[in-house]
Amino acid sequence: MLLNMKFVEPIERTLDSKFKFRCHKDIGCFNKCCRLTDILLTPYDILRMKKRLGISSEEFLKKYTYIHIDEKSSHPYAVLKMMDDNEGKCPFVTPEGCSVYEDRPTNCRYYPVGQGLMIKGSEKGTVNPVRTGHSNGVNEEFYFFIRDPNCLGYHEDKEWTIETWRIDQEVDIYDEMNREWKEIQLRRDAIGQPKLDPKKQSLLYMASYDIDRFRRFTFESKFLALFDIDKEEIEKIKTDEIALMKFGFKYLKYILMLEETLKVNPVRKGEAF
Ligand code: SF4
Ligand code: SF4
Repeated sequence: MLLNMKFVEPIERTLDSKFKFRCHKDIGCFNKCCRLTDILLTPYDILRMKKRLGISSEEFLKKYTYIHIDEKSSHPYAVLKMMDDNEGKCPFVTPEGCSVYEDRPTNCRYYPVGQGLMIKGSEKGTVNPVRTGHSNGVNEEFYFFIRDPNCLGYHEDKEWTIETWRIDQEVDIYDEMNREWKEIQLRRDAIGQPKLDPKKQSLLYMASYDIDRFRRFTFESKFLALFDIDKEEIEKIKTDEIALMKFGFKYLKYILMLEETLKVNPVRKGEAF
């Protein structure tokens, strides 16, 4: 999920691939990578950062991101907005490093590794139903290195595999949280469906990134009356933000017509939402 492919090494890597890397305060390039860059955000990135900053998802998106519409799929993505100054720095970088380090986004955690997801088993553009998880043989995560010549970390002596790097950077947790969402993006794209109309783009954006607005959309509209949703699930998504995020993914599968994840309440059938 990168916007800038300039330094991407075009070799597919696996979790066993080895590399040497260390990033620390005394390195000559310290903080130089936290500027003039396009960091595409995931739903879980927003959840973590807005919580850390103590602001709503709406405030976070407005202040720190811009919307990028992917030309091919027409999907809207939130991208971290660099500061509008001479240096184009990330709003979270300080002389001491990243001020949101413990909650930094997925792509910052992975760096200098990049990660992609492909759907295996597609024939003539038709994609098999996707089940979540590593072991089903349908989805495959792959990795690559980002070889920015200005990044001196590659000259350091600490050795990693991509797997040990992922664990050290705690990005494995982020992958777990975002996998279903990434699959949604990919499946719709792979099926070769027509571009989304503005209403669906807006719903996709809201359910992906704007969790506080999605909560209001769910609880302060006729949404719960229109769909037949289990009482326990309703109680859970009221208080658990991760459960609400995952419910958002379910809703996306429904509105993007990928899966019948929601059942319309029989008495309200025919009512549009
Ligand atoms: S979020 Fe942190 S690690 Fe990522 S670019 Fe900004 S300062 Fe750097
Ligand atoms: S350029 Fe590389 S080594 Fe330098 S601060 Fe950024 S990630 Fe660390």
